[in-house]
Order: sequence, then structure tokens, then C-alpha cells
Amino acid sequence: MPTHYSTIVIGAGAIGSATAYWLAKGGQRDVLVLEQFELGHANGSSNDHHRIIRHSYHDDIYGRLTRPMYDNWAALEAASGQQVFIKTGGLDIAIEGTPGTASLERYRAVMAANGVPFETLNKAQLAKRFPQWHIAEDEVRATFQEESGFIDIRRATATHIAMAQNLGVEVREHTAARAIESVAGSAAGAGTGTGTRTVRVITDGEVFTADKVVVCAASWTDALLQPLGQTWQTTVTEEQVVYVQPKDLKPFAVENFPIWCWHGDDFYYGFPMYGEIAVKLARENLRRVVTQDTRSAAPRPEETALLHDFLAERLPEAAGRVVLAKTCPYDMTPDRDFILDFMPGHPNVIVGSGAAHAGKFCGLLGEILAELIIEGRSQHPIEPFRADRPALVNASIAPVFDLKG
Ligand SMILES: Cc1cc2nc3c(=O)[nH]c(=O)nc-3n(C[C@H](O)[C@H](O)[C@H](O)COP(=O)(O)OP(=O)(O)OC[C@H]3O[C@@H](n4cnc5c(N)ncnc54)[C@H](O)[C@@H]3O)c2cc1C
Repeated sequence: MPTHYSTIVIGAGAIGSATAYWLAKGGQRDVLVLEQFELGHANGSSNDHHRIIRHSYHDDIYGRLTRPMYDNWAALEAASGQQVFIKTGGLDIAIEGTPGTASLERYRAVMAANGVPFETLNKAQLAKRFPQWHIAEDEVRATFQEESGFIDIRRATATHIAMAQNLGVEVREHTAARAIESVAGSAAGAGTGTGTRTVRVITDGEVFTADKVVVCAASWTDALLQPLGQTWQTTVTEEQVVYVQPKDLKPFAVENFPIWCWHGDDFYYGFPMYGEIAVKLARENLRRVVTQDTRSAAPRPEETALLHDFLAERLPEAAGRVVLAKTCPYDMTPDRDFILDFMPGHPNVIVGSGAAHAGKFCGLLGEILAELIIEGRSQHPIEPFRADRPALVNASIAPVFDLKG
């Protein structure tokens, strides 16, 4: 007889780990997490020092979620005694007359609609408050939001999984789920929507059964869900970050230098020094389409040079020696929105996709996915993240991978 679990979580990245924790916290017993590599591995999207967290968003479907997102990080820190959120404040900067100003206005509207306070800064105010920035253009528009900062994503993921294990969750490393079968059968303890169906998860050595399975497999999702009739395709891209040692360290320390987003022809973003004696920066969405089988983890020298040039021009005191450059995969849905829903036609299979901007949200997404499993619905507004929305089921709708709004 296969071993039976209440829920199997596939993937122990940021989202799967948070889901396992929230399941155990919600009273679920017999939860199994399957991870194809070792915990904390670097092949997925959740292995680095930081992920930006902010209220400023391009769309209110996310603006409505940022308060509970912050609440969940605070609750995790209180329960674990581990700091995972580093508050630095955050800047959004655009040059007047460029398309970036429209993005800033949109961010401001979303924050205003949700009662989030923010400050607007002109060029002189920005230069006075944050003299690290050297902006040659005459007219600059900036927004400062004091609750922004970053999540130490590696630490957050490790904290979620440790908390889950301490609450009784079983974690199997080096155990890849090769297939999911949703079949009629005697589901022990079936919850809302499962009827009498059960699910079988096949690995190389064993078969497990469960009342429900939640797939948090990020850039590996399609291999598992296409046989179940997945109607969308996950686009995987190779992204690159670079760590640069400042020429003067103190101005770029966490307490002196906010996280930032630069809304120009390209969207650049960056962090103060943390984890390495270096600031980190990147361009959002390089559109280098790969698969997990074809990707090369080698950083490209031309991207490193471009990012260093950005620093040399805009943050010259930060533009010292390149310490480290590395790549990381984005897993993008066709509309770049999350998927948090039951798999159409398979009421005991749940999908959790963060669409390559969920580092900040993973503590909340864990709660939402656990709610779907335990109660069959979530208290949070997740209607936009349905798996049967037009952008996912209608192949004639062209994909949009841009978060600028
Ligand atoms: C360069 C970069 C910068 C980013 N910046 C930000 C940011 O500033 N702010 C922000 O909010 N977000 C950011 N993100 C996005 C954020 O990091 C991701 O949305 C988040 O980490 C995704 O977590 P995940 O658990 O879905 O994916 P992953 O961490 O990739 O986890 C998926 C896991 O599933 C496992 N798995 C897959 N298939 C199987 C299988 N068949 N069997 C067993 N295990 C399996 C994998 O091994 C992996 O461990 C960034 C991402 C990148 C790459």
C-alpha cells in the first residue's frame, strides 16, 4: 500500500516551504514535502540574500494584498525569533517625460487607494536626502515609501521549512515527483471539493497518495501539470544580478541606503549592502528565454558591464569592484499574474505560481494555499489568480511579461 498523506507539497522553494508551514500551523497532520534537490539549493528562484518588498505596485490586485503580506512576515518573525524582513525604505525614481513617470503615478494611485502613506520627492529633495544618487537630468520624479525593504529570501525559506518540520511536516529531499495522477478512490478525510477522489504522486522509488497535492514547482511546473491538461505555458527566463563593492561603504549600509527601483527605458532595481560587502543590482526581466534543461548558469559579462555602467553613472560611489555575478530563473505566467487555484478538472490538485515576483509575497501565498487546501477557499481576494482566467486558457491572447503596468 502506498503511504497516504493529507497533503503533499511539491517543491520546497519559497512558496512551497511557506505552504508547508501554514498547513501545519492550520492543524494539518500527515503533510509531506517533496523536493527534487537538497533544501536551500541554488537551481530555483529562492536562493539569494534579498527580494524587494514594497507596497508600491502596478496593479491594485497586489496593492490589496500588501498589508497582510507584511503582517505574515511579522508573525513569522515573532513565532520563530528570526529576522527575515530588513526595513530600509524604498525609492521609485523616474526621469520626467519618460514612460517611467506613468509607472510612478500608477504606483502612487495603488498606494493611495490602500491608505499607504508615501512621500514625493523632486530632484533637489532626492539629492539632499539621498546624496548617493547623482542624476544629471533636470527633472526627476521620485517616491519614497518608508515600509519598503527586502526579505532575506534564503533565510525566510529556511525558517518556514524548519518551522514546518518542528510542527511535524515530513520533508524528503532528493525526491522528485515525476507524475501526478488524480484518480477516483477512497480519500481519507476528504475536504471541500475533493469528493471521493484521491491523488497519487509518483517518484522514482515510491508512490504516495494524498487527499490533495499542491504544486509549487515554479520553473518545473509544466512537466507536472501538462499531463493534467494545463492550458498555459510557463515561460522561464535567465535573469542576472551583480554584486559590486562600493568605493565608500558607509553610505550604502542598510541604515543609510534604501532599496530602489529605476523606471526608465529599462527597469533597474537594487539593494544596500547585505549578505556580501557589496550592493546588488539587476535589470528586471531580461527576456532570455530558456528551460531548466537548456539554461546555463554562467553570468554574461556584457550584462555585468551594463549594470556596472549604471552604477558608475547614477551611484558613482558604489561603482567599485565587481564581487559576484550570478543568474536565477524567472517562472512567468502568460499575464505575469499569480496562479492560486485548484487545477481545472482536478479538484484535489492546487497550483501555487508566483509569476516571478512573489519573493515578497511568499509568506502570504503559503497562507492562501493552505486555506485552499484546508477550507476550500481563501479569506484573501484571489479571484484574479484563478487558473481558468482568459489569459491562461485562451491561446490567442498574447503573453505580457511586463510588470511596469
Ligand atoms: C533574479 C531574481 C530577482 C527577484 N527579485 C524579486 C524581488 O525583488 N521581489 C520579489 O518579490 N520577488 C523577486 N523574485 C521572484 C521570487 O524570487 C520568486 O517568485 C520566488 O522565489 C519563487 O519561489 P518558488 O517557491 O515558486 O520557486 P523556487 O524557489 O524555484 O522553488 C521551486 C521548487 O520546486 C522544486 N521542484 C520543482 N519540481 C519538482 C518536482 N517535480 N519534484 C520535487 N521538487 C520539485 C524545485 O527544486 C524548487 O526547489 C526574483 C526572482 C529572481 C530570479
